[in-house]
Amino acid sequence: MGDLGWIAYPKNGWEEIGEVDENFAPIHTYQVCNVMEQNQNNWLLTSWISNEGASRIFIELKFTLRDCNSLPGGLGTCKETFNMYYFESDDEDGRNIRENQYIKIDTIAADESFTELDLGDRVMKLNTEVRDVGPLTKKGFYLAFQDVGACIALVSVRVYYKKCPSVIRNLALFPDTITGADSSQLLEVSGSCVNHSVTDEPPKMHCSAEGEWLVPIGKCMCKAGYEEKNNTCQVCRPGFFKASPHSPSCSKCPPHSYTLEEASTSCLCEEHYFRRESDPPTMACTRPPSAPRNAISNVNETSVFLEWIPPADTGGRKDVSYYIACKKCHSHSDLCEACGSHVRYLPQQTSLKNTSVMMVDLLAHTNYTFEIEAVNGVSDQNPGARQYVSVNVTTNQAAPSPISSVKKSKITKNSISLSWQEPDRPNGIILEYEIKYFEKDQETSYTIIKSKETTVTADGLKPGSAYIFQIRARTAAGYGGFSRRFEIETIPVSVAASSDQSQIPIITLSLTVGVILLAVVVIGFLLSGRRCGYSKAKQDPEEEKMHFHNGHIKLPGVKTYIDPHTYEDPNQAVHEFAKEIEASCITIERVIGAGEFGEVCSGRLKLQGKREFPVAIKTLKVGYTEKQRRDFLGEASIMGQFDHPNIIHLEGVVTKSKPVMIVTEYMENGSLDTFLKKNDGQFTVIQLAEMLRGIASGMKYLSDMGYVHRDLAARNILINSNLVCKVSDFGLSRVLEDDPEAAYTTRGGKIPIRWTAPEAIAFGKFTSASDVWSYGIVMWEVMSYGERPYWEMTNQDVIKAVEEGYRLPSPMDCPVALYQLMLDCWQKDRNSRPKFDEIVSMLDKLIRNPSSLKTLVNASNSVSNLLVEHSPVGSSAYRSVGEWLEAIKMGRYTEIFMKNGYSSMDAVAQVTLDLKHWISAAKKKESASPPATMKHWLLLLHWALLLLLCRPCFLRWNHCRDSGRVQQDEEAHPFM
Ligand code: AMP
Repeated sequence: MGDLGWIAYPKNGWEEIGEVDENFAPIHTYQVCNVMEQNQNNWLLTSWISNEGASRIFIELKFTLRDCNSLPGGLGTCKETFNMYYFESDDEDGRNIRENQYIKIDTIAADESFTELDLGDRVMKLNTEVRDVGPLTKKGFYLAFQDVGACIALVSVRVYYKKCPSVIRNLALFPDTITGADSSQLLEVSGSCVNHSVTDEPPKMHCSAEGEWLVPIGKCMCKAGYEEKNNTCQVCRPGFFKASPHSPSCSKCPPHSYTLEEASTSCLCEEHYFRRESDPPTMACTRPPSAPRNAISNVNETSVFLEWIPPADTGGRKDVSYYIACKKCHSHSDLCEACGSHVRYLPQQTSLKNTSVMMVDLLAHTNYTFEIEAVNGVSDQNPGARQYVSVNVTTNQAAPSPISSVKKSKITKNSISLSWQEPDRPNGIILEYEIKYFEKDQETSYTIIKSKETTVTADGLKPGSAYIFQIRARTAAGYGGFSRRFEIETIPVSVAASSDQSQIPIITLSLTVGVILLAVVVIGFLLSGRRCGYSKAKQDPEEEKMHFHNGHIKLPGVKTYIDPHTYEDPNQAVHEFAKEIEASCITIERVIGAGEFGEVCSGRLKLQGKREFPVAIKTLKVGYTEKQRRDFLGEASIMGQFDHPNIIHLEGVVTKSKPVMIVTEYMENGSLDTFLKKNDGQFTVIQLAEMLRGIASGMKYLSDMGYVHRDLAARNILINSNLVCKVSDFGLSRVLEDDPEAAYTTRGGKIPIRWTAPEAIAFGKFTSASDVWSYGIVMWEVMSYGERPYWEMTNQDVIKAVEEGYRLPSPMDCPVALYQLMLDCWQKDRNSRPKFDEIVSMLDKLIRNPSSLKTLVNASNSVSNLLVEHSPVGSSAYRSVGEWLEAIKMGRYTEIFMKNGYSSMDAVAQVTLDLKHWISAAKKKESASPPATMKHWLLLLHWALLLLLCRPCFLRWNHCRDSGRVQQDEEAHPFM
């Protein structure tokens, strides 16, 4: 409308014409229609147009154009297009530039032209064309329309640019943004966070050339105390809080907390309730726990075991732990003092997670008060409110603690004088010291000296030799542990020679006399030893020094096992070693097993002045013979002599009323073999090793006392709820009668073949070394979770296999170190087997250093796998029978194979086939044609043993592994 200020030239070209549109509204158009004339060049220039900062602009043209065909006579010169140009300039000065300085945007043609007919109908066919130009670099531009001989009416020119409109996205405000110069360009735009919001990751979006927002990145979040509503951040009302920008919305204050203000970032705790710094603000306020409940104690010499149940109120927290305060109290007054640092707490004194603790190294015969306090994460915020339960105990007598240091007082070439301090905890009056010494690396031949003083002189020693000394103290409670080993060397001859030479004959003489005297003493002792066993071994006070070889002479004064058989009246033995309990103190609850003499029950024992505690009760069934009663109580007479944490503890016996009972500590998990079978694969190697360590420690105690168990097997080990294993099942001759595993041997005895050492089976040679063999079998049972040793092999086959040198293969997933220990226990020569104290130290070492248990027996080393993987049939991997046997660790049979004519792999393959047929025929109970010659039988026997040994491993193995691969192996195997 009005004067646009556009310029048209030449004069007879573009004309500004006022018209009306279809609604009769007045409009301006520019028209030109010189179609009949040649060489038209009519320009129409717009005024200066500011681009408002845009670098790409769009021009929309609306126009009509006359169809040349509808113009009579004008065809020669008539055109149906026109051209559009632009020229950039920062201001209006550019208006007078020359045509050829304009840049062409495009030639515009009409999509629809009109004819005279159309004109008659007043139907104008309006064309719309859009073009864009960019990038623009100046502030504005001119447009120009060039006509070269068409009939055009330019109705509208709309010039615009595109922008992404201002928007709030993810709580960030993005401003109006003009699109980029390039049609494919994305402009990165940073947003700014709305009120009460903060950035998480800086918010960004991308403005496309089409004016659309794309690809939002990052966001803002309402700050603490505010929450998002309708693209704004609204304040949290009183009673609500928001702790962090990251929480989505305001939350109600958690239990036991409140807030009275707006925009709260946390809530305050109510009185007597607290919050730890590390507690999340969404957590309820909590308070210290109430006191632990039902604390009970169990005193064992100078150790006290405490157990309790958790507090009724944990204060609303899960981090309850316990702290033990220890006070030593005077017996005749209420005065108590702190216990001091010598007391050790197992596992620790503070932050106890479990509801039990053991205090060791307490003083003997002393009153203690233990306060068990429950604490949680907020206890320290209310120190006035300590909640504890007290337990008063009196410790018992105990052996002295080991001597910790030894001083050399005089060393010559033949003697060493030592002195030492009383042990830290004598736990009574020290009656004497025992000094054991031997030449280094000659431990089997040692000397013992007894001394009432804290000094000793060992003489008659070799010059220039190293000697090992160990000292222990004895009180009425028995011997304490030996000190550590002290190594001391005598002076070499060359050093002492000059001063001592004249004394050599005297020393030689005194040595000779010494040896003779010693021999007399030893023989005397051996003869007097025949009396042993009728009473507790007594020591001759004059006998100061004794020599030992391979432990053949028992140490006088050491607590020794006394065979109840040696008592004429067996009742006397029972009453010497077992306390009589009144039947009324016992409550029988339920039957838990069957013993050979009657039921085994669980129940409770309430002794006067003591808390009631669970016990196991063995009963003697009615109608027993006198021998049965004697044998039944024999077990109590034996058990009553033992006092060790890994030996089942005898509480007492009931003999004065019926039924006769033996009452022992209760072992919640029952017998070890059943327990392991029930919990197959449930324990760590360390837990299993600790079980084994316990059993070995109990066995060491028994062997030190001179007791040979003869029936050590997992079924005769009991295990309690703390997984402590204890050796049980002590008996006289009946031990083996009682054991369903025991079988009669050719010598008439009854023996549990699979657990028994070969020399014990063959010649009845039962010793601690044969117990060590059985211990090896127990190790195997434990590591294989109660598998039956030698599986279903017959006893006869087991005896033969063991004699031939076969040993049980390693259980699955067994550490090499433990399997090696088993093999050591199964040495044929019993003197080569480790002693129980060595087994205990070995296991201690392994447990202290768990990485030593990481190396497992390589699956390819176990016999079963060797058979699979190195099977000769269908395999040409082995060139000779010898090589193959070596590969499966059976090299020692090479000679037998050769002698029997199996010198080639083909021959071996044939015999494996024969065996396969023979076995499958035997299984179907068909009459199998027996192998031709004895030599076949011999070889087949070896194979059969191997097969029998390995079949169960396969079954187990197959069960546990990926079926596919094993299946294949099995099919490839000649026996399976
Ligand atoms: P025994 O006659 O000693 O072999 O005992 C038979 C069965 O009774 C064992 O296998 C155990 O299951 C169970 N038993 C024996 N003594 C105890 C005990 N002290 N604690 C728990 N169970 C026991």
